[in-house]
Amino acid sequence: HRKVSMAAIVLYPVMGMGHLISMVELSKLILTHHPLFTVNILLPTAPYATGSTAQYISAVSTTNPSIIFHHLPPVSLPQDPASYPCVEALLFDLTRLNNPNVHTAIQSISQTSTVHALILDFFCAAALHVAAELYVPAYFFFTSSASGLALFFHFPTIDRSTNKNFKDLETTVNLPCLPPIPLSHMPEPILEKDTAEYAGFIDCSVGLSKSTGIIVNTFNSLEPKAVKDLADGVCYPDGPTPPVFCIGPLIATNHQIGNESDDKVLESECLTWLDKQPSQSVVFLCFGSLGLLSKAQLREIAIGLERSGQRFLWVVRNPPPEDKRQRFLTQPDPDLNSLLPDGFLDRTKERGLVVKRWAPQVAVLNHEAVGGFVTHCGWNSVLESICAGVPMVAWPLYAEQKLNKALLVEELKLALAMNESKTGFVSATEVEKRVKELMESEEGNSLRERVTAKRNEAMKAMGKGGSSRVALAKLVEQWK
Ligand code: UDP
Repeated sequence: HRKVSMAAIVLYPVMGMGHLISMVELSKLILTHHPLFTVNILLPTAPYATGSTAQYISAVSTTNPSIIFHHLPPVSLPQDPASYPCVEALLFDLTRLNNPNVHTAIQSISQTSTVHALILDFFCAAALHVAAELYVPAYFFFTSSASGLALFFHFPTIDRSTNKNFKDLETTVNLPCLPPIPLSHMPEPILEKDTAEYAGFIDCSVGLSKSTGIIVNTFNSLEPKAVKDLADGVCYPDGPTPPVFCIGPLIATNHQIGNESDDKVLESECLTWLDKQPSQSVVFLCFGSLGLLSKAQLREIAIGLERSGQRFLWVVRNPPPEDKRQRFLTQPDPDLNSLLPDGFLDRTKERGLVVKRWAPQVAVLNHEAVGGFVTHCGWNSVLESICAGVPMVAWPLYAEQKLNKALLVEELKLALAMNESKTGFVSATEVEKRVKELMESEEGNSLRERVTAKRNEAMKAMGKGGSSRVALAKLVEQWK
């Protein structure tokens, strides 16, 4: 027998830059508390070109030598990637097919180290089997809210309560910790029952209870009710709710999406422009890494912004591609002149900046000139806005964002709701009204005060003796 000496943690993100960044940030956090661990990140090979992560990975490896990346060999998918109805369906297949690769990778890491934990993305629940086979404790890293986690714990019970598709139901989910959520506001892939992605979400939700613990990127005082319900185990009647560790807010500061020099240029363009604007005068509009709006919707936003008279920094992307095969690929830069109303850029050039595709969001939100954020309510964006003390207008687009909106607008009162039509369209009048309300009204000021208070609570949670620090210490203690 070889002498096993090193202590290792293995993290398994699902494919996709956002998930990878979250896992890397968690790795860094673990290492600050446990510098002697080696942290191994398993990287599934994307089945097609989804924009390269190579540059990001090499930057992380250089600055953090204790983080080791393991590229899993490619798998062959049962169908053409373009024929998957949604990205989640593809992720579930990819994860299932990667199980033998995950097994081999953990075995090989075990040659030189004791693997104390396998930390899975929510979408990687299929790998629970591998952890069980190898006697490695499995944890989840849930990268959305504790309220979202409570809802997924509750999902198998909701599923049993009706034979109908959620999209056809008027009823609401009533969990003690959440404002009532219409079932039709559940994430899109679970709106219809008889699909592979619906079954995949059920498996992942049931999988949560089979783990040793769940790490959540939130802090106790942001979602006290959800944290309590999870601790009391009331969301999942079928079995135990494992201990939940709220270790956030964890915020990635440097994303490097493409070419590093392009990022630098972008960063300086946005920040130099903001330097010239008065304090808290600019509204920032950005819709996550995947939010795409139709040309008609982009024009409506432009008209609303122009009429509002507010200063703005707006990240614009191309509308969703018509060719479904293009969906998962990195999109080219938009042609702003053809997408936006005639003369818009010229007429607003004194008080607005439109950037193509991507802005350094964390730096932008933390700039003194930014006073409001129109967001798609992705959880990272929400935390980043709170940590920067910036109030929001909530405009959810996909995934669990409608739930995040309910939490922000109804429960926490940190955001105004952007009202949309039944088809999800937002008028120029609504954009104008909401942006003005955020930036100029009493209500906007109250939101700003509440967000500032939450920012202070977040800093306290992460500081010495704070709840998130204590939770992390407890977690890491389990791996000794
Ligand atoms: N982001 C950014 N610039 C952009 C768009 C997004 O820096 O132009 C970052 C943002 O700061 C956040 C992440 O990408 O950290 C998006 O994560 P979120 O959970 O908000 O939404 P998702 O993209 O997962 O829907």
